[in-house]
Amino acid sequence: MAIIPPGSTIGILGGGQLGRMSALAAAELGYRVHVFTPEEHSPAAQVSAAATVAAYEDEAALKAFAENVDVVTFEFENVPAKSAELLEKIKPVRPGAKALYLCRHRLREKEFVNASGGKTAPFCKVDSKASLKAAAKELGFPCILKTCELGYDGKGQWKIAAEKDIDALDVDFTQGEFVLEGFVPFAKELSVIVARGVEGEMRCFPVVENIHKNHILHITRAPANVQHVAAREAERLGRALAEAMGMVGLLAVELFMLEDGTLLVNEMAPRPHNSGHYSIDACVTDQFEQFIRAVCGLPLGDSGLRCPAEMVNLIGDDINAWAQYLALPNAKLHLYGKSEARPGRKMGHVTLLK
Ligand code: AMP
Repeated sequence: MAIIPPGSTIGILGGGQLGRMSALAAAELGYRVHVFTPEEHSPAAQVSAAATVAAYEDEAALKAFAENVDVVTFEFENVPAKSAELLEKIKPVRPGAKALYLCRHRLREKEFVNASGGKTAPFCKVDSKASLKAAAKELGFPCILKTCELGYDGKGQWKIAAEKDIDALDVDFTQGEFVLEGFVPFAKELSVIVARGVEGEMRCFPVVENIHKNHILHITRAPANVQHVAAREAERLGRALAEAMGMVGLLAVELFMLEDGTLLVNEMAPRPHNSGHYSIDACVTDQFEQFIRAVCGLPLGDSGLRCPAEMVNLIGDDINAWAQYLALPNAKLHLYGKSEARPGRKMGHVTLLK
């Protein structure tokens, strides 16, 4: 069934803040949400009609979950491929296995981007210290070693400034696949989020500018302060990649912009993205509502900006300043219901309307 009407139940794999904000948007449109996550008392389950707490490999739990929902989506891409395939046999999974397969693996993702008319940083597959040395010679220093899977917020990454760093590097190459990337002297980091519906229609959110601190997104500025042509090119690229992937849902594309305006794709996410959180307060249709609309086969909404905005992530102890943010005019505070403010943990965000 292409259209999943309001009143139906949406199954979301993953229980984090992206699932929480998606569940809230789904509730606004009259849907029920059933979350599947290994985490007890997860941020998403706190605001959902039902939750299954089980491992992503638990086939019996996955089957029971699929029987209880009308459509399945996910809020993160590291769901095992086998689990997504099992779910697809029972209910529509949007986006499907192809998007997961491509976006969860850095090497496949880069090959896909280059084959689809986009560009990336130069890269080489590496599987030993010897191949790392040869690749570093080819790409030059500095360069960045990354795990192909399960890396996020700078985890699973090692910056290599010189050959002696390779000798000192403590990486077990038998633990998965690795890619070495040339270091990109970017002028700005941008991102663009494209929604694509079941019939292939697309809507693009404004291109935004991202500032990272300790490898974690710190600030997003909407819209990005870039030339009109750079913004149009980022949108064109986002649409082309969403189309090539056959995406149904959201595709977030993180970009490096060079001094001369060239855009290189850093990574992609087949789901709502942290750099789109500002849209809850600043866009006509926010990324979470658009995500639900796309996944349920509803007409997509206007993703235009109502006013410029800046989003600030509240990481770890930053959350202690919540009362100060509440006192600010034109500020909207969003907290994720996480009990423990560990360092590096995303606890909430604030949108400042300009
Ligand atoms: P990633 O997890 O790949 O998104 O990397 C996190 C952050 O590290 C990026 O947002 C950049 O700020 C930085 N970074 C990652 N790869 C590169 C690269 N090849 N060149 C320069 N900076 C990078």
